[in-house]
This record gives sequence, structure tokens and C-alpha cells, in this order.
Amino acid sequence: MARDHAEFVRLLRAAIAALANYTTEWAGGQPAPNPRGPAFYRAVAEGMNSVEDRIHAFLHANHCIVALGDLLVNMQPRLIGAQLLGQSGWGWETVSAYYDPVDGVAYVAEFIKQPFQPGALVADADVEAGVREELGHALDHALHWPAHAPAFLATYRAEATRITDPNDWQELCYRLGPSCGGIQVTDEAAASELFAALFAARYGGAPGLPSQTQLLLQYFSQTYQLVLNEIARIP
Ligand SMILES: [Zn+2]
Repeated sequence: MARDHAEFVRLLRAAIAALANYTTEWAGGQPAPNPRGPAFYRAVAEGMNSVEDRIHAFLHANHCIVALGDLLVNMQPRLIGAQLLGQSGWGWETVSAYYDPVDGVAYVAEFIKQPFQPGALVADADVEAGVREELGHALDHALHWPAHAPAFLATYRAEATRITDPNDWQELCYRLGPSCGGIQVTDEAAASELFAALFAARYGGAPGLPSQTQLLLQYFSQTYQLVLNEIARIP
């Protein structure tokens, strides 16, 4: 039972735990002691341990940090009132993780607020997969955005056009662009979401129901291969 950050680090595989200052607790826009609950620490550790050591070493060498905290808007004040990609009217307090390329920080929060239920804090049930997704975003960044390369965009667009079932489209639209939930999502932003989700799928599953990961792999088999090719480039 990890009750503080030092105990959390001991849940990580030795090669990950050995990366200096790779993980930290965070509050108010900077590293700060902010101990989390044992179930959260366990879920974060499982998410991190599901990804290969060489990926973590590469991210660490590229100055990525994994920051843990209570609620995203408490961790990074810039997110208060900011627009959430693809989710009209929902704020950043309704999701538990994001990667900020400005800071090079993968933010992972223990709690979310329920959409349409202001004030109610709940422990997020999808932390393990969320950690994988944000590591995928960090890798996209560290590799200088392979998801924005013309071949990647063309492949993802071609595979996206095969989704004709409106239910499937609704399930996946956050990662498809150009429009989801009334919010315009650029092709580049959507392609980066797809890259991160397929990265997470490679290591055990993307956030959301397992059926969403299966849908992603079913529709985006060629895009998935491009993600695997990028993963294979990491020494
Ligand atoms: Zn994402």
C-alpha cells in the first residue's frame, strides 16, 4: 500500500524507478508534496509498468515528467475554464489526465468531477489506461510529432472514411476530427489523439470501454502499424 510518493516509486519496475525526477507530485502549476491514495498510486504504477522500459528511458531523456495530483485544474491553473478538446461545455475537471507539450508534463489526477454534477468528486476508474495514453502523447512529442506527418494523416483519414456506422463514429469521434461534440478539432489534433490511443492499445488498452479499443484497432489497422513503426524506432 503506497501512501506517499517514495512508496509509489517502489511500485514501479526498477528501471523506471531509477529515472531521476521522472515522477513527482504536483499542485498549483509546480512540483509540490500532495500525497495521493493507495488505489491511485497502484493504478498509475500499473499503467507505467505496462509500458516498456526503453520508452520510459527515451521520454526521460527528452525531459518528460509524469506528475500526479488530485484534480487537473488544481495541478495546472491554466486549465481552469479552458476548452477541452472535442467536449463542448465540459471542463478539464471532468477528465483525469493530459499531456502538456509546453511543459513536457504528463498530468495524471486521482479525481474527476462528474459532468453535469458540479461539485461531486469521484475517483477516476480509468487511471491506468489514462497513464498509457499520456505517455503516447509524450512519445508523439519526443519524436517530433509523427502523427502530423503527411503519410500518417493520409492513412488515418483514409481509414476514418470507412466508419459509416453512426454509433461507431460517435464512440470514436474525439479521435477522428474534424468535428466532435460541436467543437472543431483539427486533423493534426485528432491524429495525435489517435496516435496516443493506439499507443495505449499496444500496451494494454486505451481509456474507455475495452470495446472502444477494439473498435480503434479494427478500423485503424494501418494507422496502428505506423504507430508500431514509431515505437520500434526507440532504442
Ligand atoms: Zn489524449
